[in-house]
Amino acid sequence: MTLPDPHDALAYLAHAETLLICMDFDGTICELRPDAYAVTPDPQVIAALENLAALPGTDVAILSGRHLDGLRTVCPLGPPVTLVGSHGAEPTTGGPELTAEDREYLDGIQRELEQLTQGHPGAFVEVKPYQRVLHVMRLATTDPDAAAAILESGLHLPTHGRPVTPGHNILEFSAVDITKGSWLAAEKTRYTATLFAGDDVTDETALAVLDTAKPHPSVSTPSDVGIKVQHSTTGGTGASATAADYGLGSVAEVADFLTALAEARQSAQG
Ligand SMILES: [Mg+2]
Repeated sequence: MTLPDPHDALAYLAHAETLLICMDFDGTICELRPDAYAVTPDPQVIAALENLAALPGTDVAILSGRHLDGLRTVCPLGPPVTLVGSHGAEPTTGGPELTAEDREYLDGIQRELEQLTQGHPGAFVEVKPYQRVLHVMRLATTDPDAAAAILESGLHLPTHGRPVTPGHNILEFSAVDITKGSWLAAEKTRYTATLFAGDDVTDETALAVLDTAKPHPSVSTPSDVGIKVQHSTTGGTGASATAADYGLGSVAEVADFLTALAEARQSAQG
């Protein structure tokens, strides 16, 4: 399924009185790589987002599943751009307090996951403040069957109703019920329009809270724009069902779109 090109919505976004531009990080503004920390976001995206964040009535946020410290090490953006980690559970300031029960759950899941990855150097368990994440991306490049089997076993671990989210060669166990969608739903109320782009399953929670009534060239009708980045080469979740109205095929296409948006919004204000 190919979604319409979001350039149709450029004029609308350029003229929205106040605009929140919220971007997923991995696979949206940064290419996916087996080594999650050997990555650099697309420089054209960074320039476009910096230009946008400098415009009046325009805010930019990066909303990532990475923990906030991890996001900071790979993303060169800072204030006025807001970085938000752990799918919205780690805003730049604040965040929920974990209970003893939450910590016990995370410790238990960590032990189970570490058993699953034992003997597989290409698989590991990432420790984030509110989550434990099973990663098999490196193993998937050498032994896809073993990677799939580990993910499958992970899916059968008991979570007592706590959220489990699959992604590109990862499986995330969270102690808190905060999603990209719950973060964005609260944040977007302050803006006339919101643009969100993401490539993975967790981004669907954010796409789902957008007011996706079709944008009208006259900005009197508040509306939002959701973009699904559909990678053709990863064999990931790009082709699956999405709440997005628009689609782009790569990080490079996101870069071109954001560059066009920065130019259009700048001239609309000039
Ligand atoms: Mg992503």
